[in-house]
Amino acid sequence: MSICAVLGCNNGKRKENCRAKTFFRFPFRYPALVEIWIKAIGREHFRPAPSSTLCSDHFEESCFVYQQFTNRRQLKPGSIPTIFNVPDPKSKREVNDTCEASSSKET
Ligand SMILES: [Zn+2]
Repeated sequence: MSICAVLGCNNGKRKENCRAKTFFRFPFRYPALVEIWIKAIGREHFRPAPSSTLCSDHFEESCFVYQQFTNRRQLKPGSIPTIFNVPDPKSKREVNDTCEASSSKET
């Protein structure tokens, strides 16, 4: 089961309340960028598997391009995850509705 590789983020492809999310694989074609992603998510020793993904919660809206017909989100080349709106992974606090949290940005 693929879930987001960001610590503290429990978003997963199969989850009902994560339907609106997009899951992006690591940019293996650009090893330097993979390193940047790993540093960005704060998991220095993490080795992403080919199936490892980050969810769209961690990217600025400006990182996305929408496909013309399907309206599917894609990442612009060179995008870096910058949003880690999750509780401190070291704290023991429960991570509940991270999926709903992102919609609170809209006013
Ligand atoms: Zn995530």
